Amino acid sequence: TGICVHWQVTARCFDSFGGKKRARLIEESKKKRKRYGGGAQGKRPSSDGSDEESMPLPNPMVGFNLPGYRGPSMTRVLPELATGPPYFYYENVARAPKGVWAKITRFLFDIQPEFVDSLHLCAAARKRGYIHNLPTENRSPLLPLPPKTIFEAFPHYKKWWPSWDQRTHFNCLQTCTASAPVTERIQQKLSSSGNPPPQSVQKYVRHQCSKWNLVWVGKDKAAPLEPHEMEYLLGFPKDHTRGFGKTQRYKSLGNSFQVDTVAYHLSVLRDMFPNGITVLSLFTGIGGGEVALHKLGIHMRAVVSIEICKANRKILRSWWDQTQTGTLIEIDDVKSLKDDEIASYVHRFGGFDLVIGGSPCNNLAGSNRHHRDGLEGEHSSLFYDYFRILNSVKSAMANM
Ligand code: SAH
Repeated sequence: TGICVHWQVTARCFDSFGGKKRARLIEESKKKRKRYGGGAQGKRPSSDGSDEESMPLPNPMVGFNLPGYRGPSMTRVLPELATGPPYFYYENVARAPKGVWAKITRFLFDIQPEFVDSLHLCAAARKRGYIHNLPTENRSPLLPLPPKTIFEAFPHYKKWWPSWDQRTHFNCLQTCTASAPVTERIQQKLSSSGNPPPQSVQKYVRHQCSKWNLVWVGKDKAAPLEPHEMEYLLGFPKDHTRGFGKTQRYKSLGNSFQVDTVAYHLSVLRDMFPNGITVLSLFTGIGGGEVALHKLGIHMRAVVSIEICKANRKILRSWWDQTQTGTLIEIDDVKSLKDDEIASYVHRFGGFDLVIGGSPCNNLAGSNRHHRDGLEGEHSSLFYDYFRILNSVKSAMANM
């Protein structure tokens, strides 16, 4: 299955690899609509989840196109309600419990998510879904292109890398890293076996290395990536998160955007806004969106940023003061941002050009099984604040 099984009636179905599947997909999507009673147009956001369907993830997870892609260009026709201004860009983990993406899609004007694994753009996997109303033609990647394999990124690790560990990419960079007992156990197992170690030991070690994204830093010695290495893989400037404890840095980095991926999608804004843009940034974290815009050479005249974590706010502020000349306004909690305040920012900045954010995935992501209660979970339900605030901006801008 492809990315457009549930594609809008108004949108043209697009198969990023060749177009052969197109007719079949349109057929399938027609059948689905029938089965679920009514077209996408008629669907209204509902919170009971009764008519949820799971959304098949595309394989390969390449989104609508990739840098260097030379296929036919894709034109999608968005429903009128979905078009800007403002442009908006929403992100979350691709693998969410059943029905979550279908529901997010329904709230966000039935725009189909663009699922991308950052593996195709850098040396670490990161499977994410992006719902946005940006044009998808004439995108351009950040240059220089980031290293695409582990050894391209970190050639010095070749020295101790065993031939039986054949990873070329890291798995998704997470908010937690391996504790000392994990790496100690690896060392102990390896030093008490021959070279090469028996299959069972190899298998165990390979599994731990993939799971925790370990690198080989000495004889039999595997270690977690350092925060500065994560910054590099994720496309942040060196020392972006420096000055905070390691636990905080891993947490902030593990939650962040992969900058090159997001920049590729946002690159279309450069020609549209030669005089810069105003941004409403929800769940800003350490500013993956802002760093992407900056690296694209897009001037941010003003950013209104909402981020609850104080360390993240400090990280953004210090980066901003070093690199930007525009206005940065920082707000703590999306819940506290109400219509009147939104309207006053809209008035003050003449509207927002971009509303960007990825709401917390704590109740959605796989590693957190105990609280995997979907979109209604304590953290994930903040998606509804994204939706609420976006609509509030739209109506304030309509009244400008
Ligand atoms: N895209 C960001 C990270 C998003 S992770 C980046 O590039 O770094 C989600 C973020 O939402 C986290 O940083 C978390 O601290 C923040 N958050 C959680 N609850 C929030 C709330 N109620 N209001 C604002 N931000 C919140």
